[in-house]
Amino acid sequence: MQFVSTRKKAPVVMFEEALIRGLAPDGGLYNPVTIPKLSPEVWRRAEDFVDLARRVLEPWLQEEVPAELLDNLLREALNFPVPLVRVGDVQVLELFHGPTLSFKDIGARVMARLISHFASRTPITILVATSGDTGSAVADGFAGLPGVRVAVLYPKGQVSALQETQLTVKRPGVRVFAVNGSFDKCQVMVKTLLASPGELRLSAANSINVGRLLPQMLYYFWAFVQGDLKSANVCVPCGNLGNLTAGVLAWQSGLPITVFLAAHNANDGFPKYLSGSPTPFGPSVRTLSNAMDVGHPSNFERLHVLLDAATMRRKIKGYSISDDALLRAMRRVYEQFGYVADPHTAVALEAIHRESSPGVVLATAHPAKFSRTVRRALGINAPEAVALDALANLETSVTSLDPIPDTLRAALADWL
Ligand SMILES: *Cc1c(COP(=O)(O)O)cnc(C)c1O
Repeated sequence: MQFVSTRKKAPVVMFEEALIRGLAPDGGLYNPVTIPKLSPEVWRRAEDFVDLARRVLEPWLQEEVPAELLDNLLREALNFPVPLVRVGDVQVLELFHGPTLSFKDIGARVMARLISHFASRTPITILVATSGDTGSAVADGFAGLPGVRVAVLYPKGQVSALQETQLTVKRPGVRVFAVNGSFDKCQVMVKTLLASPGELRLSAANSINVGRLLPQMLYYFWAFVQGDLKSANVCVPCGNLGNLTAGVLAWQSGLPITVFLAAHNANDGFPKYLSGSPTPFGPSVRTLSNAMDVGHPSNFERLHVLLDAATMRRKIKGYSISDDALLRAMRRVYEQFGYVADPHTAVALEAIHRESSPGVVLATAHPAKFSRTVRRALGINAPEAVALDALANLETSVTSLDPIPDTLRAALADWL
């Protein structure tokens, strides 16, 4: 399967190279040159999530990943349930039952095993800068896999206590650095090293990597299989637009999604773009759904190449939901249906409520991860999550680092 940069100024590459590079050398994002069409007979007959994953990903990966290896890798990566539950007249697809309790586990765990497969000859170090959920999903996804190690950077004091514990849990092959600076500083350090790696063999595992994007198509298909849906609207809580882009790829490969509802918080650049504003993106603002606090969604560039502007505006409807409205939505679904939603899922529940039509909502995080907001909205404790209870007893390990790329370079060179 070939991939081409959104900026068209870099060579066309196979999946392996797009996966290891992350970003194309011209600064663009990799998109597939062609999108394989999947007939409904293929995916509707899936027996379980892993079987479905194999059916959907085979045409993408069969030239480069042997069938048996793909099968084993998917079985290992997708080892938790992804149920579709009814909440009133919407169906909620719970993507948060993985080890770090957000949907990012799905993409990260599949990507980690693909990279480990290709890295088996020359070990590779994955760099990831995180402001929250991505770091723990990536660290956990790669932990203990042969041929890869992971360096996670996060801004010291700027993630929640729970996120910090999730990030710093000791994991084999993972080092965590608390940077004395902002998330932007962490990103600059990662980008500087990627641009001039020297002796190090480095790669990045951010949300623009095709290795995360392709597996994110799977759960859109899985919602249709579980609900036996002929067609449906799908409502997606959006930040960097990776999840939505994967949904568009699923639609383009034949999944009968009617309309996408792109549910944003106060970071409303994309909804503004859809309603006609030519330059809608700006600095991010902080909200209660912090994993969606993105001012310049990196996957917009990719989406823009996959869909022309007219199709995008016909196929995707944008919503911007305030913190007050998301708190009200949390109360509404709890009082009416006894369902406890996390603040990110609540943004989508409110968007589909305004649309007043049934459909599928992607639930992106476990409410236990946002227990303070759950208590504030509902006056109750969030349902427990075994994965979080276990954290209390685990050892943690973290190294402080000044926000200078060469200190990171030195730390990585020492790490053998
Ligand atoms: C990352 C994240 C999002 C946003 O997903 P994108 O793919 O960046 O649009 C939404 N909800 C949660 C809980 C997240 O962690």
